[in-house]
Amino acid sequence: MEEHCIFCQIIAGQRPGEIIHQDDRLIVLRDINPQAPTHVLIIPREHMESLNDAAQSDEALLGYMLRTAAKVANQEGLAENGYRVVINTGPQAGQSVYHLHLHVLGGRPMRWPPG
Ligand code: 5GP
Ligand code: ZN
Repeated sequence: MEEHCIFCQIIAGQRPGEIIHQDDRLIVLRDINPQAPTHVLIIPREHMESLNDAAQSDEALLGYMLRTAAKVANQEGLAENGYRVVINTGPQAGQSVYHLHLHVLGGRPMRWPPG
């Protein structure tokens, strides 16, 4: 755990958060500032700053995060109309929390390209 990391603190139970699912590898958290009717974050328990730090040994975890995104989207009733899965990486992409996470957004029409 990284002491000053918001997501590590939520995972450790040191900071409140609406966790809707958790297991040995990740937690699923409702975003505190939702950008769509459904906005959840898939967050690995292991601290990793960004996708740039994902190694070959993390490939199974990354795949599991994506499969969990699809499962959660289905549970949230988004599977039919669609949803978006996003990983912001680095400053120009708008990453604000430097603990790898995947956004699942849905419940409204999405534009392309993203801003
Ligand atoms: P990023 O900008 O790094 O891709 O995404 C970080 C996300 O974390 C943002 O959507 C932001 O609203 C969310 N966030 C930041 N702090 C907290 C928090 O304390 N609790 C929860 N649930 N979400 C947070
Ligand atoms: Zn962390």
